[in-house]
Amino acid sequence: MRVSVIGCGYLGAVHAAAMAQLGHDVVGVDMDAVKLAALTRGEAPFFEPGLPELLVEASSTGRLRFTDDISAAKGATVHFIAVGTPQLKGSNAADLQYVDAAIEQLLPHLTAGDVVVGKSTVPVGTAARLAARIAEHGSGAVLAWNPEFLREGFAVKDSLAPDRIVFGLPPEPAGAAIAEAALRGVYAAALAAETPLVITNYSTAELVKVAANAFLATKISFINAMAEIAEVTGADATELADAIGLDGRIGRRFLGAGVGFGGGCLPKDIRGFMARAEELGRGESVAFLKEVDAINLRRRQRVIDHVVDLLDHEPFGKTVAVLGLAFKPHSDDVRDSPALDVAVRLKGLGAEVRATDPQAIENARRQHPQLDYRTSFEETVRGADVVVLVTEWDEYRYLDPEVVGALVSGRNIVDGRNSYDPARWRAAGWTYRGLGRP
Ligand code: NAD
Repeated sequence: MRVSVIGCGYLGAVHAAAMAQLGHDVVGVDMDAVKLAALTRGEAPFFEPGLPELLVEASSTGRLRFTDDISAAKGATVHFIAVGTPQLKGSNAADLQYVDAAIEQLLPHLTAGDVVVGKSTVPVGTAARLAARIAEHGSGAVLAWNPEFLREGFAVKDSLAPDRIVFGLPPEPAGAAIAEAALRGVYAAALAAETPLVITNYSTAELVKVAANAFLATKISFINAMAEIAEVTGADATELADAIGLDGRIGRRFLGAGVGFGGGCLPKDIRGFMARAEELGRGESVAFLKEVDAINLRRRQRVIDHVVDLLDHEPFGKTVAVLGLAFKPHSDDVRDSPALDVAVRLKGLGAEVRATDPQAIENARRQHPQLDYRTSFEETVRGADVVVLVTEWDEYRYLDPEVVGALVSGRNIVDGRNSYDPARWRAAGWTYRGLGRP
């Protein structure tokens, strides 16, 4: 099928390449000249495992190209909208200006039978509004909503072989039939592999995505709330998570107590959900998400408090080595990253912060040029008074406390991800602080 993908960021670039790899003829459209230049050369504009190989393979088929010219979308049957929906400045709400602009730019190039497919995460009600706009324009195109569940770090696998597919179809049967047929065509390979498919209406499809993210955020903040209780009772939140996670109804995943969640999705999605629920007169239904957000942000402060405590409450001029900048391993994404936030705030307290990350230094530097970034792990920790682990890259998870101990000035470690065995580090003479661990 001929497919256009409007917006080629973390979601759209991978989706476009995956669609081409699966046999479709794809044009990706973006306005970011730097991203486009990389994609046009067949190179990944950001770090995502497997994406360079996928881009090379997909480009070699001749079925994948990228442009800044939206008119190139003309002639495609399916048009994916994958532009950003960040948090609006000064508000919890989602900023829909990019989605609205993408639709307006696409409208003149649509023809009857085309299907515009929303992938961006949007407040419930957006699809109905956009469908009305498309109908008003009179091209005869229809709209479907098809939320995306890919995880950064696993985006290639998740795009080629998703764990589930959701079609949010228009209310009119004729439009629904056109949209469903087109979506079944683009996802033919995944559907043939019996990937679970949920066919529903717009509102449900929109809500599936924000509800899933709200649930995951709640699970993380739940264990972090238990960590706060553990900290005043001598309990161990890690062992608690192991024990409650053995209950099949609860499960151990997303029960890792630590510095909390971040990234370009969870934080802004729960805030956008709260804002939308308020507009709908149902603010109280998701009021708990305010606590979820607050618990999450408190954990960053807890990490900072540990560092300051280990520096005898005199952080000024002390050297702190921060391990990790990305919001999670296997990604270079620093949007709302707890790691970067901790580094910046420690610097704000006067500490000499040296920060490192295997992939995210350049993105971090663009946001916070004032930090001292080091590419070498040894250079980062050499002479440090405290070492802080904030992103659990494998490079940092398997450190030898003796080897690191020979480099630092003070054997003090704050384990913001509860990744280390406290007994092993203490045995090597380190003062160890985890989160929710005695
Ligand atoms: P991103 O910022 O990495 O990418 C968005 C891209 O859209 C940018 O490259 C930008 O230049 C481009 N863009 C903006 N306006 C445009 C326009 N009018 N025409 C063409 N291109 C335009 O964001 P992302 O992480 O890829 O997220 C995109 C959407 O997908 C968001 O709604 C997000 O919540 C959702 N989502 C993201 C992920 C993820 O893991 N990143 C997962 C699921 C859903």
